[in-house]
Amino acid sequence: MNHIAHNLSAIRERIARASQASGRAPEEVLLLAISKTFPVELIEQAVESGQCRFGESRVQEAEGKIPPLRAIPNLEWHLVGHLQSNKARRAAELFDVIHSLDNVKLAARLDQACREMGKKISVLLQVDLGGEETKFGTPPEKTAEIIKALAAFPSLHLDGLMTIPPFLDDPEQVRPYFRMLRAIKDDMEARNPGCLGKRHLSMGMSHDFEVAISEGATIVRIGTAIFGSRQ
Ligand SMILES: *Cc1c(COP(=O)(O)O)cnc(C)c1O
Repeated sequence: MNHIAHNLSAIRERIARASQASGRAPEEVLLLAISKTFPVELIEQAVESGQCRFGESRVQEAEGKIPPLRAIPNLEWHLVGHLQSNKARRAAELFDVIHSLDNVKLAARLDQACREMGKKISVLLQVDLGGEETKFGTPPEKTAEIIKALAAFPSLHLDGLMTIPPFLDDPEQVRPYFRMLRAIKDDMEARNPGCLGKRHLSMGMSHDFEVAISEGATIVRIGTAIFGSRQ
């Protein structure tokens, strides 16, 4: 077994255990393998071990990596990094899910590009809970307003919320951020049932995903623990 196969099976087991520990079905939690900075060959190894969802953080890097892998059926590509409006069209071509939607102008650009391509794309609203450390995302008090505005874009499916909490060594210290995102989701759904589509909560990375799962994560974004540490 190569190290990626080994790491993936260890992570899947930890996801299953964390889900069961909080009374959730392991299938409720999707594993997104964050392949940024790693070459196509390693992504192929992950595919051979049954991984089908991959996340990249930069459009430019993804442009070199996704097209060579198009021949593999059923791969799903997620953009998890900040997206500038001027790259919206390229992102809409490359990705199936955008985790970093955080303003209406970007939504309008994505929607326009998708319409021209006859494509629908799934988006998550990135919420900034950390204040200073995470520069991107919409502030919590503006989420309701943005969610309302997104209804005007027929080619975008709003499917939930995403957050990147500040990096804190002790995963338990991150728990309040995960809990806050979940509370925002519940509040939005209560005010406007169905407004968050598949109701995803994209939260949790290599060092804190178990805590995120116990707070309701449905997509965990894991890079280092699968592919190794980045340069
Ligand atoms: C890089 C990245 C991850 C993965 O982080 P790891 O600590 O390597 O698991 C998750 N989410 C986002 C938005 C990232 O940029």
